[in-house]
Amino acid sequence: MQVPFVDLKKQYDSIKTAIDAAIEQVIEETAFIGGVHVKTFERLFAEAYGVKHCIGCANGTDAIYILLKMLGIGPGDEVITTACSWISTSETIGQTGATPVFVDIEADYFTIDIKKVEEKITPRTKAIIPVHLYGQMADIEVLAQLCEKRDLYLIEDCAQSHFSQHKERNAGTWGIAGTLSFYPGKNLGAYGDAGAIITNDDVLAEKCRMYANHGALIKHQHHIEGINSRLDGMQAAILGAKLPYIHQWTEQRIANAAYYNECLKDIPQIKIPGKRPDSRHTWHLYVIRAERRNELAAYLKAHGVETAVHYPTPLPFLQAYRHLQAIREDFPVSAAYQEQILSLPMYPELTNEHIQYVAQSIAEFYNS
Ligand SMILES: *Cc1c(COP(=O)(O)O)cnc(C)c1O
Repeated sequence: MQVPFVDLKKQYDSIKTAIDAAIEQVIEETAFIGGVHVKTFERLFAEAYGVKHCIGCANGTDAIYILLKMLGIGPGDEVITTACSWISTSETIGQTGATPVFVDIEADYFTIDIKKVEEKITPRTKAIIPVHLYGQMADIEVLAQLCEKRDLYLIEDCAQSHFSQHKERNAGTWGIAGTLSFYPGKNLGAYGDAGAIITNDDVLAEKCRMYANHGALIKHQHHIEGINSRLDGMQAAILGAKLPYIHQWTEQRIANAAYYNECLKDIPQIKIPGKRPDSRHTWHLYVIRAERRNELAAYLKAHGVETAVHYPTPLPFLQAYRHLQAIREDFPVSAAYQEQILSLPMYPELTNEHIQYVAQSIAEFYNS
């Protein structure tokens, strides 16, 4: 059996009529930049999320950068974030001229360890960016209280956590703003690059919208120097066509994760991923910890199962951050997990037969 890591074609086939119609409409209307499809998607997404503003932009990385810039974060400032994420979370901090300050992760949940955050706060700290990694909520209630107490901006990187919740409150709505990525493989994915900022703050929303469009809300009226980071019409129309399915797809991911848990629970050489109580984990990725991880991945590959590692190197240990001189002892959990984590195939269209086959292959590897 072949089990790909993700299967975007299968999803397209299931909603082909709606997608094709959306694309055709954009072309017919030549509504390529801005226009009705962007406005409609922004409105629908904000409604679905229960926030006042959704500002579409070119990708999830820009969403973070735009937000940091419009919050006035820059040279001399520090922004605290997690050691385990995709580099977008920290490179955008660096791009503003500020310094990323990394914190290790919680052993059970892969998200920023709140117990180690407070000791990293200095007079220069301006914001904290937790990442709801793999779809798992960070300890957001405690983080929100801390940010309130220490007067810091709380920015949630929700690139992997569309509609994740803690105590029935959506990811991205706990602090000043949240950022989303609609990269094709994300839980809500475009057919190219796309991203968004969500916030309830009117002033911040307007600033972000302006900055993402060359510093202008009205053509030729440039209030500030900005950047070109617009959500394009084609992507907005595709996202608009996919949005009605997001809850159904998320439920399928949740069911798939539960079935993986069931099939894998008796294999002593692996640890199944934990889920924070009172939260809705949306399973962007299903990440196990495995003994002899690289050998297992090779064995699975040879048996038709595609896996991946998210991420092979914790952020502080990347070449890009060698100047920060991080040592393993500062990030013991991230460092240890680096050799253990393995992302198994996960997408809504994955079948129980696929999952059984993956689990059976893993068991076979350890028994052989
Ligand atoms: C995907 C991702 C991003 C960036 O999204 P792009 O749309 O690819 O720029 C940011 N943060 C995290 C955690 C991500 O997984």
